[in-house]
Amino acid sequence: MKENIISHQFNIGQEQRRKQKNHNSFLIWFTGLSGSGKSTIANDVEKALHLKGVHTYALDGDNVRKGLNNNLTFSPEDRKENIRRIAEVANLMVDSGLVVLAAFVSPYKEDREKVKKTVEDVNFVEIFVDTPIEECERRDVKGLYAKARKGLIKDFTGINAPYEAPENPDVKIDTTQVSVQEAVDVILKRIEPKLKIN
Ligand code: ADP
Repeated sequence: MKENIISHQFNIGQEQRRKQKNHNSFLIWFTGLSGSGKSTIANDVEKALHLKGVHTYALDGDNVRKGLNNNLTFSPEDRKENIRRIAEVANLMVDSGLVVLAAFVSPYKEDREKVKKTVEDVNFVEIFVDTPIEECERRDVKGLYAKARKGLIKDFTGINAPYEAPENPDVKIDTTQVSVQEAVDVILKRIEPKLKIN
């Protein structure tokens, strides 16, 4: 089957779409434990970008796991497939000229490396929301840590499934040390030069 799939050459490509939008497109990937602050910070970064006229889209567990990936569990294999599909969707969105913000626990280093490969290094910004687990568990935004402690959730990252921390993230944020606004400012500063079309 695969050998019969031959790409059609479209005349409008990423370059034209970026030019039309007047900014570059890339993926901002937020990784960290559940409750670390990924969605909160991604949401405020997106708001700030939107106000500046940047075309954005935010992907997170809610809009992906309820639709495209609603047949996947949290087993290691399904988590890999979850991230693979997200990477492919994000790649299409980057190709369409958007700045994509993706907030996923994405606990495996290998999976994050694959995302980077899919969208290409130059289009990948990794934000490690490095909030200590004690604080994430204290917040327990969705009540999931309590459930996991009771043994009601298997494969819960940080409790009974591993989290492999990034070694060289573009930005590292500990939300016990900085406010949401401070985190947003650091990220905006980091991506500012990337927004400019070469
Ligand atoms: P995640 O998307 O990583 O699962 P959420 O963003 O849903 O995490 O939840 C993080 C929680 O932590 C929110 O209730 C948020 O208000 C709170 N919080 C407290 N301080 C901060 C901070 N400095 N940065 C981000 N979130 C914070």
